[in-house]
Amino acid sequence: MTKTAAPERTPALNSATSAAESYEKLALYIDGEFIAGDRKTQDVRNPATGEVVGKLPHATRADLDRALAAAQRAFGSWKHSSPMERSRILRKVAELSRQNAAQIARNITLDMGKTLAEASGEVTSCAEHCDWHAEECRRIYGRVIPPRLPNVRQMVLREPVGVCAAFTPWNFPYNQAIRKIGAAIGAGCTMIIKGPEDAPSAVVAIARMFHEAGLPPGVLNVVWGVPSEISEYLIKSPIVRKISFTGSVPVGKQLASLAGLHMKRATMELGGHSPAIVFDDADVERAAKLLAAFKFRNAGQVCVSPTRFYVQQKIYDRFMAAFLENTRKVKVGSGLDPDSSMGPLAHERRVPAMEQFIEDAKQRGGRIETGGERIGSVGNFFAPTVMTNLPDDSLVMTSEPFGPLAPCSPFKDLDEVLRRANSLPYGLSSYVFTTSTKNALAAQNGIEAGMVNINHFGQALAETPFGGVKDSGIGSEGGIETFDGYLTTKFVTQMD
Ligand code: NAD
Repeated sequence: MTKTAAPERTPALNSATSAAESYEKLALYIDGEFIAGDRKTQDVRNPATGEVVGKLPHATRADLDRALAAAQRAFGSWKHSSPMERSRILRKVAELSRQNAAQIARNITLDMGKTLAEASGEVTSCAEHCDWHAEECRRIYGRVIPPRLPNVRQMVLREPVGVCAAFTPWNFPYNQAIRKIGAAIGAGCTMIIKGPEDAPSAVVAIARMFHEAGLPPGVLNVVWGVPSEISEYLIKSPIVRKISFTGSVPVGKQLASLAGLHMKRATMELGGHSPAIVFDDADVERAAKLLAAFKFRNAGQVCVSPTRFYVQQKIYDRFMAAFLENTRKVKVGSGLDPDSSMGPLAHERRVPAMEQFIEDAKQRGGRIETGGERIGSVGNFFAPTVMTNLPDDSLVMTSEPFGPLAPCSPFKDLDEVLRRANSLPYGLSSYVFTTSTKNALAAQNGIEAGMVNINHFGQALAETPFGGVKDSGIGSEGGIETFDGYLTTKFVTQMD
């Protein structure tokens, strides 16, 4: 077991350091100690080259038990900590995130593949998430209810739920983790988090910054391993009172059922299949440009990525010409190359997943207007792809592609497009381009989704709630709703 009392910094960057040398020193973080060595490890690979950049230690059963015991013990005092103290630590982590953004971003690009610009943006926007939680945790209020008798006092108290277990994915490895950690710590809960084994550097960096900020041992613990084994063990433990998961709908349903079986609260931020609707009164060229940029961000591996493009008949050809032109400008390459605007897919298993969508599309009479195949034989690069002429029940129109695929289809009128937009069990995000207030109002009232973006992309800010409806999840992260899932309600009535 290797323990470091003080946070171990990764070597400073210079042009001579290799990817593996400069990469985060991977570790478990349990009860205030960074632990590596004497454990089974898993290779972490750069998806642009296939090169191994790190070895991730897996937690043993004893590690998990130790993390559970530490989180339980720490909860005993952390729940009584002052909101000022919680706020101070969260603010410090925001500051450290900004200071270390270049190094953290480079490591995210190395293990996850997104471009450096996207990775840096993720880290700095997460500093805002920390600041937001630091501010809002000072405003967790209860209330006093007017009594029926003069000698009675009735109060509603909001209390931290207890030890939380979080499971976060690889597509926004920093963002998905910090939103859960910020909410738990700000509310006075303690947490055990299992981040993404494919892209673990961001979660280790977060633990190092909380450690440096003076978070007491046991309040935050980081474990790694086989996802299903860890989640099952933690969710079944009577110590854990709440779980939070971000990932696919099928896994979310499994974890939610397990949580239900053991009567644990659950926040679920699951997959989506977001419609992008362009009405014939829209600024067509602007819509095409914005949608192409947004579609291929993070190689389409975004739960709120637009994944079904419905374009009104009258402007369909014009939109398609502009959308294709913008798509063909996307420069695919290593995320470390400043000229790249789209990196590789995060894992090699995502390439056959894309090929399956393309194969189904071809069989269903779809036309591949651009892209449609892997690029090169080194790394997991896949071409930005636009497809047309697909039936609504084809695979890509019904299952979340989670990649750089954009199926486009014409529509006739408002009723038809709302029916098609709401036809899937998903309900995460949606996008509408129109200059008509009638269409805008009909869309915001009629679309079954947790988020509706009209004429721009404005979601996922620290101050706005993020979450889905239907199969896309339960609960919100961010906004003033951010602590709801981490607090219980206690009613107190007292008579003289
Ligand atoms: P996957 O479903 O195997 O894994 C998705 C994420 O869930 C990973 O981070 C994984 O570690 C975790 N996971 C899987 N099984 C788990 C379990 N039993 N307990 C705890 N965590 C578990 O798929 P994948 O190939 O890694 O990713 C592809 C799919 O995942 C996509 O189709 C997409 O739907 C989904 N996904 C969604 C998001 C999101 O932000 N909602 C993020 C990443 C992946």
